[in-house]
Amino acid sequence: MGKTYILGVPFDTYKMNEAADRAVEMLGENGQHIICTPNPEIVMEAQNDRELMGILKAADMVTPDGVGVVWASKYSKTKLTERVSGYDLVLNIFERIKDTEYTVYFFGGAPGVADKAAEMMKEKYHGLKVVGVHNGYFDEKEERNLIAEMKRVQPDLLLVGLGSPKQEKWIYNNLRLTGAKLAIGIGGSFDVMSGNLKRAPKIFCRLGLEWFYRLITQPTRFKRMLKLPKFVFKVRKEMR
Ligand code: UDP
Repeated sequence: MGKTYILGVPFDTYKMNEAADRAVEMLGENGQHIICTPNPEIVMEAQNDRELMGILKAADMVTPDGVGVVWASKYSKTKLTERVSGYDLVLNIFERIKDTEYTVYFFGGAPGVADKAAEMMKEKYHGLKVVGVHNGYFDEKEERNLIAEMKRVQPDLLLVGLGSPKQEKWIYNNLRLTGAKLAIGIGGSFDVMSGNLKRAPKIFCRLGLEWFYRLITQPTRFKRMLKLPKFVFKVRKEMR
């Protein structure tokens, strides 16, 4: 499978179905794997955060979570064909593993959110085996206990929703200790799975305007989203 580099970040050119198939393969392989799903904000963040850039370069799969990244690939020889968001990728993986023995751990979000997300997902994907849930707010002692708990239950799939770049760094530094086969950083996906946050209506997604929907419904994201025009500017300047 090909790769395309957007401002130094190596994106895999998988379509959604191929990415989900490959993720399920990873669950059955020896060793541990990491999937990152950066959007343009994270690509921009990685320009000034060497640790984050290093993790993105070392990840086993990097998928484009944002039409901005897909757009940017038009300047490369190898194009990205579609957006592969962390949220949709995880749902596609659930669909594939719900009748298998593979287990999942939900880690992240405000207290109660991951629990609710796990309940909703078990209802939607009958047979899904959730072996643990923990919120994303912890001190050092709780973190040690949490890692010990993960090691004990050894989930195959570890979903980490701590926001970026915290989740990528947490996964990179701790995956080995957890014994999980595959970890994916999924941002605020538990908020959506739990029903606490509505996903943009399909029409916004189809028109590539999900970012605009998020801006008008969560205006506190405005400052973060200022990175978007900077991303477009930098891509035009550097990738031409
Ligand atoms: N979060 C967390 N622990 C933290 C900071 C954030 O669990 O210390 C969670 C937060 O509750 C939210 C998610 O991380 O569910 C971040 O969501 P956001 O939409 O900002 O992430 P993005 O997908 O944009 O990276």
